[in-house]
Amino acid sequence: MVEVLVVGAGIAGLRLGSNLERKADGRVLIIEEDKYLGKCCAGLVGKEIYHSKLEENGVINKIKGSIVRSPSGSEVEIRSKKEVAYVISREEVLKSLSRGLDLSMGERLIGLDLRKKEAITSKERRIEFDVIVGASGGKCAVSRALGVMKNEKPILYCLQCEVESISLDKDLVEIYLNEKISPGFISYLVPTGAERARIGVCSNNPVSKNNLEKFLDEVVRKHHGSFQLKRIEGGFIRLKGPETTEGVNFLLVGEEGGQVKPTTGGGINYSLICSDIASQFIERFLDGGKLIGYHSAWKKVLGREIRFGLMVRRMMDFLGNREYELMVKILSEFSPSLDDFRFDSHLYSTMRTISNGRISGILRGFAFWLRDLLTG
Ligand SMILES: Cc1cc2nc3c(=O)[nH]c(=O)nc-3n(C[C@H](O)[C@H](O)[C@H](O)COP(=O)(O)OP(=O)(O)OC[C@H]3O[C@@H](n4cnc5c(N)ncnc54)[C@H](O)[C@@H]3O)c2cc1C
Repeated sequence: MVEVLVVGAGIAGLRLGSNLERKADGRVLIIEEDKYLGKCCAGLVGKEIYHSKLEENGVINKIKGSIVRSPSGSEVEIRSKKEVAYVISREEVLKSLSRGLDLSMGERLIGLDLRKKEAITSKERRIEFDVIVGASGGKCAVSRALGVMKNEKPILYCLQCEVESISLDKDLVEIYLNEKISPGFISYLVPTGAERARIGVCSNNPVSKNNLEKFLDEVVRKHHGSFQLKRIEGGFIRLKGPETTEGVNFLLVGEEGGQVKPTTGGGINYSLICSDIASQFIERFLDGGKLIGYHSAWKKVLGREIRFGLMVRRMMDFLGNREYELMVKILSEFSPSLDDFRFDSHLYSTMRTISNGRISGILRGFAFWLRDLLTG
C-alpha cells in the first residue's frame, strides 16, 4: 500500500515525487516502464520559468536568440543581449530529481481499478494507493485506463539526432521552415555546446528517416559543412489533453494532462509549473482535503495561453512555403530583436495595421509563434 502512486518518471512525475517526498515520508512510489531515465527531447526551455524552478540544474548551454531560415535560404537573425533560453541535459535533470525517491524502473502500468484503488503492473504486482498520478507523457497510460483521454490530435511527430564536430554559433538556435521537409511545423538545430547540436525534424505528419536525412544532406550540410552524426531517436508530442485532469483519487500532470505549449510542443516548463500545483493539492489531500480544484487551479495559470496557442497552432497547419518566404522577408525588413516580440511592440502593432486583414492575422500569429519558439 502506498499513499501516492506516480506513473511515469519524466520531468512531471519526478518533480511531483520530489516535492511530495518531503511531506509523504516514503509513501510515494514512482513506476517507470523504461529501464533508463530520459527520452528524446531538444531540451530548449525558456530561461525565466526554468530558472525560478530549478536554477541552473542540468543546463549545458545558454541561448541568446535565433536564426530563422525560409525554404529558399533567406534568413533573419533575432537576438537579445541577454540569454533568453537554456539548453538542458534531460538525463542530468531527471537523475538529480530522482535522488532519494522510491523509483521502480522497468515497471509498466498495465491495469487500473479506481474503485478498488489498485494498479496492476508488468511485474505482476497489485499496488494499492490512495491517489494515483498520471505522468506518463503522450502515452497517457492512466487517462486511457480511466477512459478520460478522448483527444488523439493534434500530435507532432519528431525525429532527432545528436551531432558533433559541427561549426556553429552556440548562442543561436536555428529554425528552418519548409513544407517539404517538416510539413505543419519546423526543423531545428539546437546547439548543446561549442561544436555539438541536437538536430530535429518535426511535423504534424509521421516523420521518416528520409525526412531527417534530406534535411541533413540538403540543408544543414549547406550551412554547416561536415559533422559527425551520433544517435538518432524519435518521439511524439501530444498537444491537447483530456477534458479533465482530476478526480476523487487521481490527478494528471505534464503531457498526460495536456500541459504543453501548442505553438511549440514545449512541455518542460509547463510540467514544472503544474506538478508544483499538483503537489500542493496532494499534500492537502494527505491532510484530509480534496483533490478537486487542481484542474481549475492550473487552468487559471496556463489555460488562456494554451487556448490561444491551440488557435495559432491550427493556423500554422495551413501555412506553406509561400507564406514562410513572405514572413521571413517581412521580418528581415524590421531587423527585429527579441524584445520586439511583445504584444505592445512596434513590430506587433505594425503587423496589426497591415491593411489585408488575413495577412496581418497570419503575421501576428507567426510573431507569437516565433516568440514562443525562441523563449522556450
Ligand atoms: C523530439 C522532441 C523534442 C522536444 N523538445 C522539447 C524542448 O525543446 N523543450 C520542451 O520544453 N519540450 C520539448 N519536448 C516535449 C517534452 O519532452 C515533453 O513535453 C515533456 O517531456 C513532458 O514531460 P512528462 O513528464 O509529462 O512526460 P515524459 O517526459 O514523456 O515522461 C513520461 C514517462 O512515463 C513513462 N511511461 C509511459 N507509459 C508508462 C506506463 N504505462 N507505465 C509506466 N511508465 C510509463 C515514459 O516511459 C516516460 O519516461 C520535446 C519532445 C520531443 C518528442
